[in-house]
Amino acid sequence: MKLATALVHAGTRRDPATGAIAVPVYHSATYQHPALGQSTGYDYSRTKNPTRAALEDALAQLEGGARGLAFASGMAALHAALSLFGPEDHVVLTEDLYGGTFRLVDRLLHLPHTFVDTTKPEAVRAALRPNTKAVVVETPTNPLMKSADLPALVALTREAGVLLIVDNTFLTPYLQRPLELGADLVVHSATKYLAGHNDVVAGALVVRDAALGEKLAYIQNGIGAILGPQDAYLVIRGLKTLALRMERHQSNAREVAAFLSSHPKVERVHYAGQGGMLSFSVKDAALVPQVLAGVRLCLFAESLGGVETLITFPATQTHADIPVARREQLGITDRLLRLSVGIEDCHDIISDLAQALDGHSRFEDVRHAPAAHRP
Ligand SMILES: *Cc1c(COP(=O)(O)O)cnc(C)c1O
Repeated sequence: MKLATALVHAGTRRDPATGAIAVPVYHSATYQHPALGQSTGYDYSRTKNPTRAALEDALAQLEGGARGLAFASGMAALHAALSLFGPEDHVVLTEDLYGGTFRLVDRLLHLPHTFVDTTKPEAVRAALRPNTKAVVVETPTNPLMKSADLPALVALTREAGVLLIVDNTFLTPYLQRPLELGADLVVHSATKYLAGHNDVVAGALVVRDAALGEKLAYIQNGIGAILGPQDAYLVIRGLKTLALRMERHQSNAREVAAFLSSHPKVERVHYAGQGGMLSFSVKDAALVPQVLAGVRLCLFAESLGGVETLITFPATQTHADIPVARREQLGITDRLLRLSVGIEDCHDIISDLAQALDGHSRFEDVRHAPAAHRP
């Protein structure tokens, strides 16, 4: 079965009793036991819930893994994955990765770590220590859209006996299947493309090896940051149109990237050549508030991967928790804007950006958003 077909059929055939095509939303917290020592397979919904199980099985199939696990958010999924490691361990991570992942590792888990440019396999190799347990990679990176060489990283991590964990949020299994290339674990913020409609926060892990899947299921049940059944239903509904959406996100992003590359006020466009995400730096920092206040179709909002085009200012939004000096060094400057190109007619997206770049609308300075408001 081709992936586009598997996507459409995500969650079907789960209810032989009625033949329901849409997956039923099981709002049951607990399950009646048939007899002492017997179970229907469901005992308590933190451990297993039929709607969540339908999503978890679909995720495993789509990523080509042994097991899928659905969480309350992408951060909860990452937390579960990183809970495999302890204070005596060490992890290597992509230097310009999602700001929340930086915060989790550095500020909350205090997990010994090294940030490197994971587009350079030699840099990853050089960062490995005897106690390194995993390499955590985002590809393309966020917000600079640099692509990693996954086959080279697979070879290197296998040789070193460490796990390769790939955050596949930006490309989704429709465009990149890291487990098939030999990675061990895939992480998703399912909030983004998988669900795709900016109406649910969700996360996922998919693991290649069943034994590691067992360990992660133990962590999922033990920590308990599971995805609720209604939200699991929304992610399944999103998955059904993922192939169509990714095609349109990608074709729109290519056109928007071409438009921005030729715009005189744009200094540089970062686009990985696939997917719907891009970022661009404007020549003058004063253009940032002008564009954010001037867009009429594109929405100035955090997040990505939904049907609506969103524009983000990474320096104070997604990457605010990264120290300023480090942000500057990574190229996450006060002239960089990120676009999650939606599935609107791309001429409308381009004309909106054109008027915002050229306009003289009054602007509010957004560069000092309070820390409490950072996701
Ligand atoms: C949004 C995002 C996360 C965090 O996911 P949430 O669902 O917001 O918790 C992690 N990684 C990447 C690449 C993201 O874009």
